Amino acid sequence: MATTLMRNTAPKEHSGRYYGFTTAVAVCAIVGVGITAARAEAPDGGWLGVPFAFWLTAGLALVAELRPTRWGGLWMSPIASIYLVYVLATMITWGFIPAVIVQTAAVVLLCVQIKASAWRTVYNVSQQALALCAAWYVWTLLAGGETWNGTWAQLLAVFAAGAVWPLVSSALVGARSALRTGGSWTDLTWQWIKSEWALRATQVAIAPILATAAMASWWLVAASAISIFAVYRILQTAADREREADSDPLTGLLNRKGFQEFADAKITDAAETGTAVAVLILDLDRFADVNSALGHEVGDQLLVELAKRFRTDIPPGKAIAHLGGDEFAFVWGELDGMTDPMECAREIRARLDAPIVLGDASVEVDGSVGIAVFPDDGPDFQTLFRHADIAMYESKQRASSFARYAPEFDHHSPERLLLLGDVRRALDHPDAPGVNLFYQPQVRLGDGEVIGAEALLRYHHPERGVVNPAEIIETAEHSSVMRMLTERVVDIALRQLRSWNEAGYDLRMAVNVSVRDLQSPEFTDFLTERIDAYGVNAAKLQLEITESALMADPRRVVVNVQRLSDLGVGISLDDFGTGFSSMQHLRRLPVTEIKIDKSFVTSLSDDPDNAAIVSTTIDLGRALDVEVVAEGVEDEKVRKQLEGWGCHAGQGWHFAKPMSADAFERWMADHRKAR
Ligand code: C2E
Ligand code: MG
Ligand code: MG
Repeated sequence: MATTLMRNTAPKEHSGRYYGFTTAVAVCAIVGVGITAARAEAPDGGWLGVPFAFWLTAGLALVAELRPTRWGGLWMSPIASIYLVYVLATMITWGFIPAVIVQTAAVVLLCVQIKASAWRTVYNVSQQALALCAAWYVWTLLAGGETWNGTWAQLLAVFAAGAVWPLVSSALVGARSALRTGGSWTDLTWQWIKSEWALRATQVAIAPILATAAMASWWLVAASAISIFAVYRILQTAADREREADSDPLTGLLNRKGFQEFADAKITDAAETGTAVAVLILDLDRFADVNSALGHEVGDQLLVELAKRFRTDIPPGKAIAHLGGDEFAFVWGELDGMTDPMECAREIRARLDAPIVLGDASVEVDGSVGIAVFPDDGPDFQTLFRHADIAMYESKQRASSFARYAPEFDHHSPERLLLLGDVRRALDHPDAPGVNLFYQPQVRLGDGEVIGAEALLRYHHPERGVVNPAEIIETAEHSSVMRMLTERVVDIALRQLRSWNEAGYDLRMAVNVSVRDLQSPEFTDFLTERIDAYGVNAAKLQLEITESALMADPRRVVVNVQRLSDLGVGISLDDFGTGFSSMQHLRRLPVTEIKIDKSFVTSLSDDPDNAAIVSTTIDLGRALDVEVVAEGVEDEKVRKQLEGWGCHAGQGWHFAKPMSADAFERWMADHRKAR
C-alpha cells in the first residue's frame, strides 16, 4: 500500500506529464458532467420539490465519510469509502445532477480528512465524476431513463451501472499510478479492481434497496441507514482489531509486525519516487540494571515515559515502534522531511539527554542507535532491519552514540557463517586438528633474554588453508564460538607453559582475550580452574586485552578484569595507542603492561611522529610503573632505538615470526647459543 504522503507527490522525472494528465482528466470531467447534466432531466416534481428522503440520503452519504475507515482489507486504497451506496441510490431516484453533487461533496470531505493535496483532490473529484457519467449512461440506456420503480430490468441496469463506476474509476486511478510510478497501466488497474471489488459489490447490491426505501418514505431511509452503518461499524471494528494487533500494549507504539508493515510501505514509496528511507534501531544501555535495581514496574514506566518523549513532534509519516525489551525502532523517509539520516539518529539520541523522572527516582538513560538507509544499505525491510541491528551493535561496541551500517560490521555474511560452523566443528572434538597455537618470542631488549611468548591462534581450514586469525576472532566474537575458542586457546597455552617450565625454560605466556570473554564472570572461574589443574604460577600468565574489548560495556569489563588481576595474572593493554581512550583505561584498570601497537613501532625510524609517540609511551610506562613491550620490531635499527629509550621488551619479525611449539624450542636453543 502506498502511503498518503507519497500519493500527494508528483514523480520527479516527469512531473509535467503528470500534471498535464491530471488537468486533462479534470477538463474531461467538466465537459462530461456539463453534457450529461444538460441531457439529464430535473427530478420529478422539480428541483424545489425534492422530498426530505433525498436530503436525508445526501446527508447520510456525507456523515458516512466523517470517520472514514482505514480498512486493512483494501491494500491499494488508504480508506474504505461508503458514499457510493448513496450516490447510486440518488442517481436512480432523483437523477444525475443531485448524484454528482453528493458525490463531489463526499469526495472533497474525504480528501480533506486524508490530507490529500489540492491536485490529488481535483483528480479524485474528476475521475469519480467521469465514472458517474459512465454509470449514468449505462443506467439510462438500460432502464430507459425512468425513475427507479423496482423492476427486474431496472435492477439489472443498476448492477450494470454499479459495475461500470468502479471499472472507470479504477482505470483512471491505475493510469495515474502508472504515470507516477512508471508501472504498467493494466497491472495497476487490475490491482485496484482486485483490491476493491468486494467492497464495491456490496455497495452496489445495497443501492437498489436504499432507492426503494427512499421512494417509499424518509423513515425507511433512516431505518436502512442503521443496517448500512452496522456493516460500516463491523468494518471499523475489524480495522481497529487489526491496528491493535499491530501495536505494543505497554507503550501504544507499533509492535514489530506493525513496524514492518509501515516500513515496507515506506520502502515501496521510496523505490517508486527514487528517495531514501532510514531504518533506525535504538537499544538502551543497562536497562537490565534498572529492572533489577528498581523493579520491573519502574522499568516498564521508564519505557512508557520514553515512548511519550519519542511521540512528541513526530513528523507525519514517521513511525516509532517498541520492539520489546529495551529496543525501539524508527523509520523515516525523505518525503517526511529526512535530509540526513545521521540527523535522525541525533534527534533520537537528543531525546535521551534529560533524565527520566519516575516518582522520586531520576534515571539517566543512554543508548546506541544503528542506522541502515534504503537503497544504499539494503533493498528490502528484512535486510535493512538486520543491518540497522548490526550497526547498533557496532555503535555499542565503539561506545559511540550511533553508527551507520557498513559491510565490514557484518559478521554474518554467508561465508562468515560457514567459517563459523567449521570452527565450531573443529572445536567440538578436543583432539580434532585445525585449531592450533603459534608462539612468538618476547625478548628483553637490555640483554636479549627471551622472557616469554605470545600465543597466537592458527586455524587450518580443510579447504581454505590457514585463515587469518583476526577474521576468525571478528566472526566468532558475535557468537558462543568465541568462548569455546578462548577456552581451547587457554588450555593449549597453559599446557604448553607447563611443559616449557618443566623443561627448565622460565617463560611467561601471553594470551589474547576477546571482548566477549571479559563480559561474563565465567571466564575468571574457568581460568582459575585451569591454572589450578595445570599447576602453573598465575603470575606467568599474561592476558592481552584490546581497547575494543573495553569499549563494549566498560563497567562490566572493569569488574571482570579486576577479578582476573586479583588471581595474580598480568594484564597487558594490547594495541596501545590505536584506540580513543587508551589513557583512560590505564587509569581505570589494573594494567601491568602496555604493548605499543606495531603500526607505530615498525616505521619509527622513518616517521618522526611515530617515534615521538613510541618514546612518549615508554616514558609514560616508566612514570606509571608498568612494563612496556614494543610489538612489530622488524629490524635492528628499531630494536636499538627502543633499547635506547628504555623499552623493556620487544616482539617482532626481527627476533622471530610466530611459530609452532617445536620450532619455538629449536629457535630458543639457537638463540641462547648465539647470545
Ligand atoms: P595482536 O595480539 O596484536 O598480535 C600481534 C600480531 O602481529 C600477530 O598477528 C603477529 O603475527 C603480528 N606480528 C608480530 N610481529 C610482527 C612484525 O614484526 N611485523 C608485523 N607486520 N606483524 C607482526 P596475528 O597472529 O595475525 O594475529 C592478529 C590478531 O589476532 C592479534 O593481534 C590478536 O588481536 C588476534 N588474535 C590472535 N590469536 C588470538 C587468540 O588466541 N585469541 C584472541 N582473542 N585473539 C587472537
Ligand atoms: Mg596480542
Ligand atoms: Mg597487538
